[in-house]
Amino acid sequence: MKFKVPRGTQDILPSETWKWQQVEKIIDELCDLYRYKEIRTPIFEQTELFQRLVGDTTDVVQKEMYTFTDKGDRSLTLRPEGTAPVVRSFVENKMFGYPDQPVKLYYTGPMFRYERQQAGRYRQFVQFGAEAIGSADPAIDAEVIALALDVYKRAGLKHLKLVLNSLGDTECRTAHRKALVAHFGPHIGEFCTDCQSRLEKNPLRILDCKVDHGHPLIASAPSLADYLNEESARYFEDVKSCLDNLGIEYEVDANLVRGLDYYNHTAFEIMSTSDGFGAITTLCGGGRYNGLAEEIGGPSAPGIGFAMSIERLLLAMEAEGKTFQEEPALDVYIVTLGEQARQPGFKLLGELRAAGIRSEMDYMDRKMKAQMKSADRLQAQMVILLGEDEVAEGVVQLKNMANGEQVKVPVAELIEKMKETLLG
Ligand code: ATP
Ligand code: MG
Repeated sequence: MKFKVPRGTQDILPSETWKWQQVEKIIDELCDLYRYKEIRTPIFEQTELFQRLVGDTTDVVQKEMYTFTDKGDRSLTLRPEGTAPVVRSFVENKMFGYPDQPVKLYYTGPMFRYERQQAGRYRQFVQFGAEAIGSADPAIDAEVIALALDVYKRAGLKHLKLVLNSLGDTECRTAHRKALVAHFGPHIGEFCTDCQSRLEKNPLRILDCKVDHGHPLIASAPSLADYLNEESARYFEDVKSCLDNLGIEYEVDANLVRGLDYYNHTAFEIMSTSDGFGAITTLCGGGRYNGLAEEIGGPSAPGIGFAMSIERLLLAMEAEGKTFQEEPALDVYIVTLGEQARQPGFKLLGELRAAGIRSEMDYMDRKMKAQMKSADRLQAQMVILLGEDEVAEGVVQLKNMANGEQVKVPVAELIEKMKETLLG
């Protein structure tokens, strides 16, 4: 075979899509419960949007974007994440003018990052994300975290850990940044070339480096916690008490910095603590991004959000041995015998479907025995047997597959009778 699915992508086959649909159902129901409305933005955006909002010095922008020039000579990028497009849409559509603030939005869709493929890391993956834009109330931080956790809980996951940190506001970050430059500066030669270029541009990123994470200077680096000003510290305390009020447990990790530039104040990750889970344990990441809307010419609109991939949620379910309820079986399979029964059988099929009964019949011109096998494989709850005699008489044989009972039913009464059986 000459063609293969592109590296880092996967086909989600019919045997798997059921699980995806169940996850999407959980997401839609919970977002409705929390009153988040769905937004659908394009798969690609102007490249500059991500450069500006995600940040020029991040791995995502520097190494992972699928960027191309279209026939009109525009630089476009397949979206690597969902927050920048949502904030772009918020500003462009003047959602800051909506009477109900904050504006609470969610999305589910494919994201694209040029990454090294490994378990839980793909080049095309599906993220569910939620954003609440327009409020700086610490309660909304806790709400957003609760929503993310609820998705995992409804999927049956038990081994979860919420890790929390405060990145402070611009003032704290500037002071902390200075301290980091002073800390790493004299020894920066011992770090990777990426970190060397991060030193001046964005030293916080050094703490998150996947190459140098074992270097002792990372463990001894000045902690953001020591640089929080009074206002930021109070905000963080408030977020924590809101979480306490919801009965949500968390761990504070002063070294938690997120991969994207735009975060301030609250940053969080939800990890799987299941034994069966692979090397990557982060299921979900999020945080506050006050100032992001202004960055692209909008008004001040503080926001907070998170994103999680469905792929990692399903991996965590597998690790914990959680499965969804089986796909509902077929209601009825129509078995026809003889040429004269085919057209009446097909007509009946249409009528059953019109009545909302999930039905199927043979299209391969197979013998009765083979048709019965199909009915078994599809786990049909009932089988309708239709031969030439039945057609002449205006009846069908209705077989209940659970107990093997077979009764003769006039076609006119069939749908009524079947609904009884299906409900019973
Ligand atoms: P990581 O440190 O694992 O690279 P990240 O910081 O790049 O994660 P975010 O950009 O915050 O991740 O994305 C949020 C979530 O999206 C992650 O927690 C993870 O569930 C998921 N995710 C990110 N990248 C991928 C990927 N390449 N494949 C599958 N899921 C991903
Ligand atoms: Mg990443």
